[in-house]
Amino acid sequence: MSLPAIKRRYEKKSYRNFNLAIYCPVQNISQIDDFDAFNEKFDAAFGDMKIGRVYLEDFRGFATISKERLLQVKTYFEQKGIDTAGGITTCAANNPEFGFASLCYSSEEGQEMLRQAVKMNAEVFDELIFDDFYFINCRCPKCIEKKGDRTWKEFRLEQKQWVTREIVMKTAKEINPDMNVIVKFPQWYEDFNETGYDLSVDTAMFDSIYTGTETRNPTYAQQHLPKYLSYNTMRLYGSDKKDSNLGGWFDPYECTYNLTSYLEQAYLTLFAKAREATLFCLSSLMEDPQYRLFPGALAKLFEEVDEYLGLLGNPVGAGAYHPSNGRGENNIHSYLGQCGVPMEMTLVYPENSKTVFLAESAAADKDIVAKMKKTLLCGNDVVVTSGFVKALGEAFEEFGHVVYTEKKAFVDSYCTSANHGVNIHGKYAGTRKIIIPQLDYCTNDVWEIAGAYGNDNNFPIVLSWSYGAGVISVITIPDDMGDLYSYPREVLLAIRSLFVKEVGMALDAPAGVQLFVYDNDYLIVRSDLPYEEQISLVVEGEAKGMDSINTRHFLSAAMERQSQGENGKKNGAAIAFAAAPGVNQVYKLNR
Ligand SMILES: [Zn+2]
Repeated sequence: MSLPAIKRRYEKKSYRNFNLAIYCPVQNISQIDDFDAFNEKFDAAFGDMKIGRVYLEDFRGFATISKERLLQVKTYFEQKGIDTAGGITTCAANNPEFGFASLCYSSEEGQEMLRQAVKMNAEVFDELIFDDFYFINCRCPKCIEKKGDRTWKEFRLEQKQWVTREIVMKTAKEINPDMNVIVKFPQWYEDFNETGYDLSVDTAMFDSIYTGTETRNPTYAQQHLPKYLSYNTMRLYGSDKKDSNLGGWFDPYECTYNLTSYLEQAYLTLFAKAREATLFCLSSLMEDPQYRLFPGALAKLFEEVDEYLGLLGNPVGAGAYHPSNGRGENNIHSYLGQCGVPMEMTLVYPENSKTVFLAESAAADKDIVAKMKKTLLCGNDVVVTSGFVKALGEAFEEFGHVVYTEKKAFVDSYCTSANHGVNIHGKYAGTRKIIIPQLDYCTNDVWEIAGAYGNDNNFPIVLSWSYGAGVISVITIPDDMGDLYSYPREVLLAIRSLFVKEVGMALDAPAGVQLFVYDNDYLIVRSDLPYEEQISLVVEGEAKGMDSINTRHFLSAAMERQSQGENGKKNGAAIAFAAAPGVNQVYKLNR
């Protein structure tokens, strides 16, 4: 189905700026026998929200629903004025000994189960979404035999393409040529290829896609997902197929420790300009006492965010390239997002970005050196991580002698530089002692813009030098990436300043304050710090100040010399204000 046609179907919005949907697992709807009683429960939970669509599932973990019942449920929702679509979750029954299990497509039974599930959906609906179990982690004897000498990654990527083409798309389109078949990707994109997902290949094969924005509990959960990831996945997925990304999807699991953390998933999904937000899932939010407070809070959230979403222009951020076969420095883009660096992640090399950002995953592109050269010769900048330097190895020497060594440094105090590394100054305390890799570099050829002190020694945190008409910089990533948050705000300002050419501004704040920037001078500051903090926004060029959209107050700016600016010349404005925990502070710059 063509994307313009899909776009028309998804144009309808239940709020002014987005549509709201609920995903309904098969177990939640196959048991409804009293629609009046169900209606009462549904309205009690969701009556204060404007629900525009429900996804009604017909298969999950070997559980199914009769076509007759599915049609009854569809009719019930449509009579309430809610659009309906189908859904499938391709997991096997939960096996508590081995974690989540996917269907096995090496067996006839697995293939047939999927075929029947797609068939019923195509007979009943015009849209069908795959929940994010559309991966393969089966290692049964049949799969081992079929894999042969290939790696699991090679075998699964090939098998997944065959399943998508021969079972999913063929079955759906034979029955309903107008079917919009949507794959919802999980949020663990760094590990996709190993389980048969490929962001670019799958996006090309399906009609459209959907985005997992679940970040839950970053510290005390198995997936180590920084909160900013809810924004990054929304921007990244579908970036190689315009208009293909239909929305973002999140759930309440592992969020009861902090209601604000649950709501943050919704905010970041919408800050990233999702057309639709989907709540997972019906029963959890409607009748699980653990999450009883969540729907009421969501209802208020959607009203609040709808007031200013329409004001925001197009998102602006570092052109952060992540090819679909890339892996490494797991979720570094989101750790940096948590450090206040706005990101614009993309599956396609961002050749028009003024600042290109490359982490270890970008080294998977075999043409990366040539692409970087082109960017730098055009006068744009490239910022890379120490992990990228390591992955590129000798090939990085094209740009300068910087080598990732096996030596480590154990550091807790830092310096910066006001004159591009000719002198370093200051002694700024980090929040704890951390381990960083030592980069080998040649003084007087490349320059230390920020560093960490040792004994009669110091180690680079930011290196920077010119190449062609642009500037190339290396950021040292601590061995524990979360220790980026341990860098003092002076060092973080030096890191954020590397991106000013693209973003036009930089936060002067500790880690934990996120910045979302739009191309019409609107911006949002959102603090995940547990305390209120005095921060400032350093703006390139002139600015009188900024208007707070939330409070209607005006914050005035002081003109000042930026740390990276020319000696003595005032070339920037600094606006000081307080960042309150868990609050969206929306501003419009007043130039
Ligand atoms: Zn198998």
